[in-house]
Amino acid sequence: MSDTCVFCKIISKEVKATIVYRDEQVTAFRDTHPVAPTHILLVPNKHIDSVGALDAEDEQLIGHIFTVARRLAEEEGIANGGYRMITNTGSEAGQTVFHLHVHLIGGQRMRYPMG
Ligand code: AMP
Ligand code: ZN
Repeated sequence: MSDTCVFCKIISKEVKATIVYRDEQVTAFRDTHPVAPTHILLVPNKHIDSVGALDAEDEQLIGHIFTVARRLAEEEGIANGGYRMITNTGSEAGQTVFHLHVHLIGGQRMRYPMG
């Protein structure tokens, strides 16, 4: 838990969010500035700054985030159409909240190319 991290505050319920899923390892909530009809953020409950701060011991946690994302995509009705998952790492990549998160985006045709 970081005192200044907004996602830690969402996990601890100090800051309100529309939480769509939570378990002992991961919390998922709707992005306040959605870029598509479905835009969910999946975050580990423990504070990790970014992919750049991951350890080998986090591998199970990251795999779990992906399987939760797959389930949420099915619940949101975007699994058949397709969806995109994005994790920005560092400021040049556009990371603005330094608590590792995966964007789950879908419900419309995605623009391409990325970058
Ligand atoms: P990134 O730019 O990859 O770090 O993504 C951060 C995302 O967090 C952005 O899409 C923001 O809209 C979203 N965001 C920031 N604060 C909140 C919040 N309090 N509740 C929900 N989403 C948020
Ligand atoms: Zn945090």
